[in-house]
Amino acid sequence: MLPADVPALWLRDNCACPDCRDPLTGQKLFQITDLPEHLTVDAVRPLADQDGWELVWAPDGHVSRYTAAWLAQPAQPDPRTEDAKQLWGSAADLADRLPEADWTAYREDDAVRLRMLEAVARLGFCLLRDVPLRDGQVQEVARSFGYVRETNYGTQFEVRVEERPNNLAFTNVAITPHTDNPYRDPVPTLQLLHCLVNDAEGGDSGLVDGFAAAAALREGDPAAYAALTGTPVPFAFRDDTTELGAHRPLIATDPVGRVNEVRFNNRSLGTLRLPAAQTEAFYAGYRAFARLLLDPARQLDFRLNPGDCLVFDNTRLLHARTAFARGGARHLQGCYADLDHLFSTMAVLGRKEAQPC
Ligand SMILES: [Zn+2]
Repeated sequence: MLPADVPALWLRDNCACPDCRDPLTGQKLFQITDLPEHLTVDAVRPLADQDGWELVWAPDGHVSRYTAAWLAQPAQPDPRTEDAKQLWGSAADLADRLPEADWTAYREDDAVRLRMLEAVARLGFCLLRDVPLRDGQVQEVARSFGYVRETNYGTQFEVRVEERPNNLAFTNVAITPHTDNPYRDPVPTLQLLHCLVNDAEGGDSGLVDGFAAAAALREGDPAAYAALTGTPVPFAFRDDTTELGAHRPLIATDPVGRVNEVRFNNRSLGTLRLPAAQTEAFYAGYRAFARLLLDPARQLDFRLNPGDCLVFDNTRLLHARTAFARGGARHLQGCYADLDHLFSTMAVLGRKEAQPC
C-alpha cells in the first residue's frame, strides 16, 4: 500500500515524469503555483514492472509514478552541520591517528582520494604526504578536488617571515588557534597549507575542533552559547589597499539550531556597539568559548614537514602555530578553496564506485 501519511503536494512536486522534469538535466519544469490548489489522488494502481505505485491526480488527470525504494529513501543530513561530523575534543578522540595519504596514491587511486576527502568532511582535515616541493603546488592540490578561491592575498599566499607584513601570520610570532578570514562573507570554507621548508626551531602546527568546543559550550554553559549564536560580531581587516568586514556570529547555526560555522579570530574581531547588558553577555560567552578553544588539551599538535599539505575545513577547525626562531627557515604556501566542490568530488567519486565494472 502507498503510505497514507504522504502529503499529496510533496508527491506531486517530486513527480519525475518528462512533463514535470527535463529528462536531460533532471531539473523541474514547473512552479509550485502551477499546481492545482486542491490536489487530490483520484486513483492508485501498483506499478506493473516494479514495486511502487502509479497515481492519477484530480482535478488535472496528471499521472505520476513512484517506486517504493524512492519513497523509502532516508533524508540526507546536511554535510555542513555538526550532524554530519565526527566531533573530536582531543588528539585521543582521533586515536592519535592522522587521516593521511601519500600524494601519489591520492592522485592515482580514486578510493584513496575519496577517503581523504571524506576525512575533511567528517573530521575536518586530512594530511597529504610527499606532495612535490614546487612553487604553486598547493593550488594543484586544491584543483585535485575543486577550485582555488582568489582573495586580496592572491591565488596563493606565502607563509614566511616578511619585512613589512600586513598580517601576523607573516611573522615568526606564535599564532593562537583561529579561523581564517572571518571578515569575509562568504568565508573561504577550506584552507590548504603546503610546507616547503621547515628547518626552524619551533613553528609546529595545531588544530582544534571548533564544532566540538561549541557543543561543549552548549552543554556546559547554555547562556554563553545563546549569547554567541545570537550576536552578530563585526569582523574587520584593513591594510593600504583593502578594507573588509563581515557581521557574523562566533557560532552560527542553521534554522533548526545545528552548528554549521565557527568564526574565531582575536586579531580581526572589531568593536561591538550594543546595549550594555548584551555586551556583557557576549563577553562572558566569548571568554567561556575562548577558554575551551584555547585549552591545550583540545589541540591536536603535529609538525608539518617539507612535502606535507594540510587540507582543512575553515568553517569548523581552528589552526595554530608555535613561535619559531627568527632567522629559522620556514616557508609554507597556502591557498583557499571551498567545500562545495570537495563535496561534489566526493559525490561523483562515490557515484563511480557504486557502478559495476
Ligand atoms: Zn509529472
